[in-house]
Amino acid sequence: MIIPIFIPHEGCPNDCAFCNQRTISGKSSAPSLDDARLIIEQYLENGTKKADQIAFFGGSFTGISALKQNEYLSLANEYIKKGLVGSIRLSTRPDYISEDTVKRLISFGVKNIELGAQSMDEEVLRASNRGHSGYDVEKASEIILKCGAILGLQMMTGLPLDNMEKCLYTAQRFCELGAKESRIYPTVVLRGTKLAQMYADGEYTPQSVEEAVAVSARVYRLFKESGITVLRIGLPDSAELRENYIAGAYHPSLGELVMSRDIRNRIEESLCGKKEAEIRVNPKFISKVNGNKRCNIEYFKNKGIKIAILEDSSVDEYAIKKEP
Ligand code: SF4
Repeated sequence: MIIPIFIPHEGCPNDCAFCNQRTISGKSSAPSLDDARLIIEQYLENGTKKADQIAFFGGSFTGISALKQNEYLSLANEYIKKGLVGSIRLSTRPDYISEDTVKRLISFGVKNIELGAQSMDEEVLRASNRGHSGYDVEKASEIILKCGAILGLQMMTGLPLDNMEKCLYTAQRFCELGAKESRIYPTVVLRGTKLAQMYADGEYTPQSVEEAVAVSARVYRLFKESGITVLRIGLPDSAELRENYIAGAYHPSLGELVMSRDIRNRIEESLCGKKEAEIRVNPKFISKVNGNKRCNIEYFKNKGIKIAILEDSSVDEYAIKKEP
């Protein structure tokens, strides 16, 4: 169990084209310490349950004042000392990381640090007004690993000037940089953002759900095969997000769609042009093989390919076994 606490970066000096934190979180200000304690207590049901981690999400944790950071971290650390929580996870920007910062975080029990890298392509980072470079991501990753924390790198797809090739390059760099975890967020155009203006002015074409699924499935596979755990695909569903959605790759089951596409790609590759095969998969994987509304089955049927899907618990969860 992970206890999520959203810490928005109030007064953030950056102006990322896609960002409207209030829209994403539904909250405009950071929780007070009392509120944060209440959230933790509710999850732990007043000490009767335990949690793996307390997670400070929001994307810029180390951008808030060190005093405020330490207050939140001390609070979380109380629960680690009581044996009710294992460790702390947080997310921040690559240009808000230094060796001293990471050492301080670790001293409070921080184990996982996720960086909102978004892309490793300089053109995409500039066009998205991120305010940091790919080099900042490399430097921060090196510091995090050197200090002994677990590195997570988050990426976005469908940003201005982005494409499949650049996304795959970003994913490949994440593998080379030693990431152990990732999140894949296809871009969504939200009301009140720079991106909404760019879209209205015809300067930006949002990624469709289909495009996002196609690229994310390739990225997902690269991560899986490199031993990177994909913690999330797509923004979490919320009333606020739906209200503020203008365009882009938003789907409440985006993760399922991506995983189904990945397996479809792998089955298709394994066929090597054959029109008939028996595919064995782990029973836990069967819904993903079939796809949303059996879309994968329909896909092969429409291509005149006969596939028998069989459940076989001896097959590893992510693997597919083709016969003959
Ligand atoms: S996404 Fe960019 S603008 Fe938004 S809070 Fe994070 S750093 Fe600031």
